[in-house]
Amino acid sequence: MTTTTSPTTEPSRQIRRAKARAAARIAAGATPQAESRHLTQTILEAASAQAAASAQAATLARAQLAEAEVDAWRKDMDARLEVILAHPEQNLGEIEEQLARSVKEPLRRLAQRAAQVKANAVPCQCPKCHRDLTQQKWLCRTIHSRFGPLTLWRRYGFCPRCGEWHFPADYALGLGRKAPASPYVQEISALLVSKMPVEQAVLVAERLGLDLSRCGMHQEAHRQGLKAQDWRAQFVGQLETWEQIQQVAGAAAEGPPVQPFTLVIEIDAWDIRERDDWGKTKELREQGKKPQRWHWVYMATVFRLDHRGQTAGNRAVITQRGYAATRLGIEALSAQLYREALARGLGQAQLVLVIADGALWIWNLAKDRFPNARQQLDLFHAEEHLWAVAHDLYGKGTPQAQAWVAPLLQQIRNDQTVAVMAALTELKPRLLEAQQQKVQTQIEYFQHNTQRMKYKEVLDARKACEQGKATEEQKQLANRPVGSGAIESTCRQYQCRFKRTGQFWTTAGDEALMCLETLWRNGRWQELYPHARPSIALN
Ligand SMILES: [Zn+2]
Repeated sequence: MTTTTSPTTEPSRQIRRAKARAAARIAAGATPQAESRHLTQTILEAASAQAAASAQAATLARAQLAEAEVDAWRKDMDARLEVILAHPEQNLGEIEEQLARSVKEPLRRLAQRAAQVKANAVPCQCPKCHRDLTQQKWLCRTIHSRFGPLTLWRRYGFCPRCGEWHFPADYALGLGRKAPASPYVQEISALLVSKMPVEQAVLVAERLGLDLSRCGMHQEAHRQGLKAQDWRAQFVGQLETWEQIQQVAGAAAEGPPVQPFTLVIEIDAWDIRERDDWGKTKELREQGKKPQRWHWVYMATVFRLDHRGQTAGNRAVITQRGYAATRLGIEALSAQLYREALARGLGQAQLVLVIADGALWIWNLAKDRFPNARQQLDLFHAEEHLWAVAHDLYGKGTPQAQAWVAPLLQQIRNDQTVAVMAALTELKPRLLEAQQQKVQTQIEYFQHNTQRMKYKEVLDARKACEQGKATEEQKQLANRPVGSGAIESTCRQYQCRFKRTGQFWTTAGDEALMCLETLWRNGRWQELYPHARPSIALN
């Protein structure tokens, strides 16, 4: 806001009022000296009110509601229930809603007092070097909590050794240095914004009884995302030495011995639109460069085959699985995936199976991180490559295309890739040059992937299961996936959040939120939010 002292400018309403108050006091017999005394007195009164409030807060030793407060709450609740019970059209929904509203204020007071008691118990020491802080004072701050705004007084002071000011109670309470969100509000902001656009998140939060602004929620979620990235960096960084790797693998092997199992790893990528070259389009074009807005998000999932089952409707469900997702490149994915795979039994697996489409980077990653894994090309991608040839030769959706491709598809399913390549090679001389080129590309695709195209034993096992004459081994084999459907559906789910019409992201923004989403899916949410543990020990 700018203020001007120009005499031609009409004074602001505030100044007019202040002048009127001063004039009234002078008219009532006060002098300008008295006026200045009045001002001093006002400042002193405010200061002593603050001192009284902080002194009162500082002596609070028990968090409880006074008898009168409990009575007022009970009366309020009774009054609300009476209204609902007098209205036959109001149902349990109204009861739930009104009771939640009624209890909010008493809980807010109780939370505020409990937080104050906790803050008072924290020694005013440097959190880094644990020395007593000097120049101790009290300062108040307002926190957004599950029950509404809380006013807290905290001691703070200066650490001469570290050269920093500290609010030790803030650390103890789990509060951010400059953010007003309580740990619960931090968590809910992170959860909602990683699941839906922030505009919707604010409305959902409001229905849950949280009064949060769009901007506050967005900033808080981003802050939490960065926290999640720090956590992930530590988690992945636990593998820097051989001893650490052994330790992590050992932890995964704890518990009773398990039946031999297969560990499945599926890898894929999708692209995200970002704002990084925003506003520089013209400049870049002049330099002869194309603005890059689309970037790869690398993803992977890992699960044990014995954790994959089927619903009554024959849909595959995986009860426990790990995820890795990142915008920070293949190397970052590789490290995250390896860590996740170790946690999910990489060290104990009898067989590791990597399934993906034909992208070269994936097989390089697999070779690097999982050198003993069996590599498998997604069956449906392989079939698509044959369909591409069929469409090119006979036209899309024609009976001729169908007739030509059918035996070849069968050969793929019978592990007869060599025969498929022979058929394509034999076809070539009869084609125009452009078509020859396309067919050659497909031949090379199959050449590169021959070793990864083994589907027969699994498909035979499935058939045997259908006919009810499967051996024990076949029953297990039948459950093995032939395609990378699990990672493809995961990619689609991430895209539902991160790839909406008109959405642009920044690398920092999308990575932070994606990290939260992945932490949630991996079942490690409580690592970041210990209060969210399903059963917190109360004794
Ligand atoms: Zn210190």
